[in-house]
This record gives sequence, C-alpha cells and structure tokens, in this order.
Amino acid sequence: MHIHISTSRFNAKRIVRFNCPDCKKNSRAIEFFQHYRGWDSTCINCGRQWCDGEWLPLDFYRGVRKENINAAKRLWRKLKDISNEITFEEFEVA
Ligand SMILES: [Zn+2]
Repeated sequence: MHIHISTSRFNAKRIVRFNCPDCKKNSRAIEFFQHYRGWDSTCINCGRQWCDGEWLPLDFYRGVRKENINAAKRLWRKLKDISNEITFEEFEVA
C-alpha cells in the first residue's frame, strides 16, 4: 500500500447506466474515483468525458472519442484490485 504506482491515485471504479446528454442515448459510463477530484466518467457509447458533473473539453483530434473509450477500458482492466466502493485508506495513513 505504500508503494506508489501510477494507478494508485484511483480509489474506486464502477460502471453506471445513465442517459448521456451528449449522444442522447441510454448508455453506460465507466467511472474512476480519485480523492479531491471525484468521479471521472467516460461514456462508452460516444466517448465524451466529464468530471464530477462538469463537462471536460473534448480534444480536437481525429478519433478522440474512440481513444477516450479505449483508454477508459484499458484503465479498467489495469485497476484489478479496486472495487466500486470508495475506500479511505489513504486518509488513515498519518
Ligand atoms: Zn454519450
């Protein structure tokens, strides 16, 4: 728990059903939680991303939405050891 790898800043992950306001579909979002930041979400239908309810600006390059979806799926697989529960272990380390 004291070894900091690049993924250690994530505390939880989950997939939620939601109505995407961007692609207007009943879609699902892959979400990752970080302390002090909140939930980062990616719509797995259109690739639009937002953080704690705030839309993130969409980068303007070819295939950015597809890349967002792939990045979220890669991260999901990489984060094997976390659940959909937010844990507060980091706060307990004095
Ligand atoms: Zn969408």
